[in-house]
Amino acid sequence: MTESIFDPGVLPLQKAVIYGPVLSRRLGYSLGINILSPHIKICSFDCVYCQYGKTELKTQNPDPASLYSVNEIIKEVEKGLMTARKLDFITFSGNGEPTLHPQIAEIVTRVKKLRDQLRPDVKLAMFSNVSELQREDVRHAIGMIDQPILKLDGGDEETIQRINRPVEGINLTDIVSGIRKFDGITLQTLFLGGKLSNSDEETVEKWIILIQEIHPKHVQIYSTDRAVAEEGVEIVPPYRLKEIAEKTTARTGVTVTAYWPK
Ligand code: SF4
Repeated sequence: MTESIFDPGVLPLQKAVIYGPVLSRRLGYSLGINILSPHIKICSFDCVYCQYGKTELKTQNPDPASLYSVNEIIKEVEKGLMTARKLDFITFSGNGEPTLHPQIAEIVTRVKKLRDQLRPDVKLAMFSNVSELQREDVRHAIGMIDQPILKLDGGDEETIQRINRPVEGINLTDIVSGIRKFDGITLQTLFLGGKLSNSDEETVEKWIILIQEIHPKHVQIYSTDRAVAEEGVEIVPPYRLKEIAEKTTARTGVTVTAYWPK
């Protein structure tokens, strides 16, 4: 049984480079970094569950002039690191897909250097939808991140197209070949119920088969815990997430952790 979402709505966009620290289920105290734009959500996907609502600019090539500059980002991150009290992670996330920034490698290099100088105990994380892993600079950037968390919301093409609605031309084969370029990776999967479900037995089975093939170090599964703009999206309850996690671990030997709001 799934729980309905009664109050559709979305989070406002992050209005600055730095946000938080927020207390996150998976990362503890996390200082968010939005390296794209404060005005518009820019992403190569348009996920039906996105907390920021519909992707306003769906592209793999945003105009660099519309994005924060490297210097603006570094200045704000430095301030954030000097003022945040309790911090476990600095997390690249924000108003879209961070790896769409054409200077992502330079940004990560400089943020890492700042982290080493100012908060060496804090780790770097990045949430990525893996659409850009064909770019060498993106692979280099992700290679510098302590905990990259890569998205895989289904084990078959139809589910990826239905849930993630990527830019034309991006397909599951590309996504999987990108993920496979990394060893010991953490994957994340968001399960949904309702009309757009990817949590039914048949769809989960295809996903488990792919998890077995990729054999990541860790898989984090969860459901949306806030209202989303899209109709037909329902929350998957904790017992079903737990069931999927246990079944996947038993079948694949991969550690799968289910998260839900406390
Ligand atoms: S990849 Fe992330 S930012 Fe982009 S639409 Fe999906 S959830 Fe939103």
